[in-house]
Amino acid sequence: MDRCELCGRAVETTKHHLIPKNRKDSPVARLCQPCHQQVHASFTHHELKQHFHTVDRLREADRLQSFLAWIRNTEKTDIQVSESDRVRNWRG
Ligand SMILES: [Zn+2]
Ligand SMILES: [Zn+2]
Repeated sequence: MDRCELCGRAVETTKHHLIPKNRKDSPVARLCQPCHQQVHASFTHHELKQHFHTVDRLREADRLQSFLAWIRNTEKTDIQVSESDRVRNWRG
């Protein structure tokens, strides 16, 4: 069973490239789908690349605290981040 490196839940995960647009050299984190979407909804690729390029930094990011506090206590895996909250080109 996978475990999300951000929220710590034992759920299926997706690959997040910690340095967007540099996939070849980028380290990969395993994030569950809602955490992954939330990361890309909360930060631009520039912010991810400049500062939030480790799981530790993401885990401590002010913008993710309320989300993480909530998701750690839910069993849901099919959470959708609304389109309006999403940063364009969130896949990375
Ligand atoms: Zn997660
Ligand atoms: Zn990603």
